[in-house]
Amino acid sequence: MSILPQHSHYLTRSPTHNPWHRKRIICSATTTTTTAKPKSSPNQLSFEPQFVAPPNLVASTSTPPVLNDPSLQSTWSHRNWVATGCATVLVSLGKAIVGAGHSHIWLEPMLAGYIGYVFADLGSGVYHWGIDNYGDGLTPFFGNQIEAFQGHHKWPWIITRRQFANNLHALARAVAFFVLPVDLVCNDPIVNAFVGVCSGCIMFSQQFHAWAHGTKSKLPPIVVAMQDAGLLVSRSQHGAHHRQPYNNNYCIVSGFWNEFLDENKVFEALEMALYFKVGVRPRSWSEPTTDWTGETETGSQVAVK
Ligand SMILES: [Zn+2]
Ligand SMILES: [Zn+2]
Repeated sequence: MSILPQHSHYLTRSPTHNPWHRKRIICSATTTTTTAKPKSSPNQLSFEPQFVAPPNLVASTSTPPVLNDPSLQSTWSHRNWVATGCATVLVSLGKAIVGAGHSHIWLEPMLAGYIGYVFADLGSGVYHWGIDNYGDGLTPFFGNQIEAFQGHHKWPWIITRRQFANNLHALARAVAFFVLPVDLVCNDPIVNAFVGVCSGCIMFSQQFHAWAHGTKSKLPPIVVAMQDAGLLVSRSQHGAHHRQPYNNNYCIVSGFWNEFLDENKVFEALEMALYFKVGVRPRSWSEPTTDWTGETETGSQVAVK
């Protein structure tokens, strides 16, 4: 059996990172038969992308990672950073509980933890908006994250194939560097509760984000229940971020702030202020197109997993 080639387009960048270029990918999917020796199981779909670069366009190496690509898998360095980040968060939460027990105050630390959870959602939105719209791969400190999020907009389904520590290690490293000094010098249960919950939610925001791209039937029931209850960012809310006009629903912890920020055009106001102050245009004004979601997970890609 053969399946006709499927044509789709996605955006690639020239070495100067500007402007976006349109590139055509032709994917042909065929099932292996007795005439061809399959590498794994029979009847498995093989995925053979052929790139056809239109003339006069600069060739780019910007291609989606293949499934089971090493870049999607966790390394021991990733796991160590996630373990370190979790340890600093747990120490902060532990100090909050012990401190609350000693001082017999429970309401304030619990309230501080709740504020930390709400604040983490706002922080995730501001950070996500910033790296979606400004800078590039060469930006100091944030370059890798900016490139990763740009790649995520071109191939959103990849995040569901990324292993846990691979997905969280960058935020875990930032959390470890920020929370460790707080753990060492602060013994206030209210501050510890706020820092512990807020930093923990920020570190796990990429996991919440990955779940928001998951299929309901494949997610743990408790995750689906928390998404439906609004405790974690929902699949429908985050799905809107990956549709036109690509400038809303940036928050990825609970999504609590998304409606307020979008209805009041807070990010649009910030973009205008930055444009008039320093002359920098956000990517959302010009670059996103429907091609950002042109590369979706196809049946053949699922099959070759
Ligand atoms: Zn985004
Ligand atoms: Zn996403």
